[in-house]
Amino acid sequence: MSQDSDRPAQLARRRFLKRLAAGGAAAGAAASAPAWGGSSLADAFADFFQDQYQRMSPEEVREALARIERKAKRRYGVEIRCQDTPAVPGVVFGYALNISKCRGYRDCVHACVRENNLSRDTQYIRVIEMPKGSLDLNQGDHYYAADLVPREGHYYLPMQCMQCDNPPCVKACPIEATWREPDGVVVVDYDWCFGCRYCMAACPYQARHFNWARPLLAPDEINPDTHYLGNRPRPRGVVEKCHFCLQRTRVGRQPACQEACPTGARIFGNLLDPDSEIRYVLEHKAVFRLKEDLGTEPKFWYFRDA
Ligand code: SF4
Ligand code: SF4
Repeated sequence: MSQDSDRPAQLARRRFLKRLAAGGAAAGAAASAPAWGGSSLADAFADFFQDQYQRMSPEEVREALARIERKAKRRYGVEIRCQDTPAVPGVVFGYALNISKCRGYRDCVHACVRENNLSRDTQYIRVIEMPKGSLDLNQGDHYYAADLVPREGHYYLPMQCMQCDNPPCVKACPIEATWREPDGVVVVDYDWCFGCRYCMAACPYQARHFNWARPLLAPDEINPDTHYLGNRPRPRGVVEKCHFCLQRTRVGRQPACQEACPTGARIFGNLLDPDSEIRYVLEHKAVFRLKEDLGTEPKFWYFRDA
């Protein structure tokens, strides 16, 4: 943990790295500004000097959200709403997955892609076809044919960000562009990340994805209900990840993957609520977590029917 006295030096270093990485992009934005009009040039410069989300004043956050909405309108021709709904006090989210019920249909994968404005070549959720009795991910098939499921002698293991309580990805980031929120969700400030990918290397679950390009999205496929730390359209050259659909879950809705699952294999809820279904599962089922020995403390459990 850093000392307060180190703060100014750390901020200066972060700004330097961020601006170094963003220099080319800002220059490009300025060069193409005449085609966009004056407000896009002003937005490009405001983006360049924007601070990390957690250190912005409420007014700066409002301006950042408005810029994101304007950029979406310019790039995709779509009116989006970008919010920054905070974590709800007394809530820490967790997920449990009943692998006896998963049939490998990948409805969760497709719902996640649509909900989170993912480039159509990116997936936050992977469903792996595993030989029965094995937990060795090297034996799994990530590219199985979804029209042939469920296949005899196999089971299906969905994986996504585990929202670790002890997340190595956060420790690896040199500029504090990623952190754990009070509701346990590990988020990324996509305007602060400069794409070094240290966090990707540190994640033992391969849950982070590098944006080689801006999301390839047709305007009529964009979900306009977005969150700054969640499903807003992300820039090129940053790392992105699952965030438990915080644009939904922080206002009492289910994550899109749970809503889409036709078999009821997914159980999501507040770990601090003793009456929640997820607490029931954790207290009454033989649950396990992946790579538990690494000490990452995932908030994503698996279980089977007895
Ligand atoms: Fe970070 Fe990976 Fe854990 Fe998600 S699963 S919190 S990306 S280490
Ligand atoms: Fe931090 Fe990952 Fe972005 Fe690098 S790529 S700045 S480690 S969030």
